[in-house]
Amino acid sequence: MVAVGPDDTAEKAQWLEALGNAIDSNSFCLGAEVDRFESACKERLGVAHAFGVSSGTDGLKVALSAVGVTSGDEVIVPAYSFFSTASVIVQLGAVPIFCDLDPETLCIDPVAAETLISSRTRAILPVHLYGQTADMDALLKISQKQQIPIVEDAAQAFGVFQGGRPAGAIGDVGAFSFYPTKNLAAAGDAGMIVCQDDEIANKVRQLRVHGDAGGYNHQMLGWNARMDGFQGAILSLQLQRLDERQAIRQRNAKEYLHALREHHLTSRVVPLGRTSGSDHCWHQFIVQVDDRDQVRDQLAERGIDSGIYYPSTLPQQSCLSTDRYPSDDLAELFPVAQRAARRVLALPVHHRLLEGDPTRVIQALADLVGDRGGIKNGR
Ligand SMILES: *Cc1c(COP(=O)(O)O)cnc(C)c1O
Repeated sequence: MVAVGPDDTAEKAQWLEALGNAIDSNSFCLGAEVDRFESACKERLGVAHAFGVSSGTDGLKVALSAVGVTSGDEVIVPAYSFFSTASVIVQLGAVPIFCDLDPETLCIDPVAAETLISSRTRAILPVHLYGQTADMDALLKISQKQQIPIVEDAAQAFGVFQGGRPAGAIGDVGAFSFYPTKNLAAAGDAGMIVCQDDEIANKVRQLRVHGDAGGYNHQMLGWNARMDGFQGAILSLQLQRLDERQAIRQRNAKEYLHALREHHLTSRVVPLGRTSGSDHCWHQFIVQVDDRDQVRDQLAERGIDSGIYYPSTLPQQSCLSTDRYPSDDLAELFPVAQRAARRVLALPVHHRLLEGDPTRVIQALADLVGDRGGIKNGR
C-alpha cells in the first residue's frame, strides 16, 4: 500500500517527457534540471540557499561537516530515528550522544538535550520525526546560549513551517530526503540541504563536490554528493503536485483523529501530541498501542498495511559506537524511546487513500482492541 511512483499512465507520460528533456539538455549530474528544482525550493521555502544532493543521508553528512563536525566531536541526537541520523555522525569520526524524547511528540526532549552538552559538543541534531518539527524554540534558545549549531534532520518534513520558519532552515542548516516514500518523492535517491547563512552555504557547495573550490582546487575533503539531473526533473514535477497531495494527507489525518474519538479509542490507540506552532505534513500517521506486533498482524489479515518506524532505538544498534550505552541500561536511560519502539504503529496516510479509508482502518482497530483493554484473543 506504500504509494510510490507515478499515480497513473498520464503522470507516467509526464515523467518520461521530463526525463527526455533532461537527456536533451545533457543534465545528468547537477545541471539545469537541478538548478530549476533548487530555485523552486528556495522560493517555496523562503530560504537563501538550497543544494540538491544525492540522498538525505549524504545531505546530513555534508551539513554536519559544514558546521565543523569532525573526528572526536560529540553530536547530540535523539535516541529514536532512522538509522542514518546517527550513522553519519559516526562516519565523520564523531560520537553520537543519545537523548531521550518528548513523550508527546517522540521528537528530541530539549530539556534532556541541554543536560548532555559538554565541552566537546559540536552540534545538536534534532529530527522532525513523522512530519512535524521538534521543539525548535527551546532548541534555538539552547543553541544561542551555548553557541552550538543546530543541524536539522528534516528528511520527513519538506514544506513544513514552525512559527513561519521553514523546517530545515530554522537552525543553522538542515537536510531533506526525497526517497520515494517521503512526502516529496524522487524516482530514486535524492535529497536537499537548505540554509540561510552564506558561509555555511559556501562550505556545502564545495563539500557536495569533493570539496572542490573550483578548478580542481580542493581545500577540504568532501564527497560526491550531487543530485542527478533525472531526479531534479522528476522532483520539479512532484513539487507542482505537492499541495494537492498534502491536502489529501491532511484530510486523512483529520479523519483518523475524528474516527479515534468517535470510537472512544484514544486511550488505547494513542495518537501523538503536536509540537506547538508547527504544521504537520503527515509523513506518517502514528498511534501507540499495547501488543503492537499482534495488532499489526491482525490488521494485515484484514488487508490493512501498517508500518513500524522504528522497531528499535538507535542506542540498540551496536555499530553506532554505543559502548557507553549497555543494553541493560537502555530502559533507564531512554524510557520514552524504548517504550515507543515497542508501541508505535504507522497507519496508511498517503495520497492514494480514498475518503472513508481511515475510518475503516479505525473500525478494524476498534474491533481488535477489546473494551476491557488488551487485545481480543483469536479472530
Ligand atoms: C529517510 C530519512 C533519512 C535518510 O534519507 P535518505 O534519502 O534515505 O538517505 C534520514 N533521516 C530520517 C529521519 C529519514 O526519515
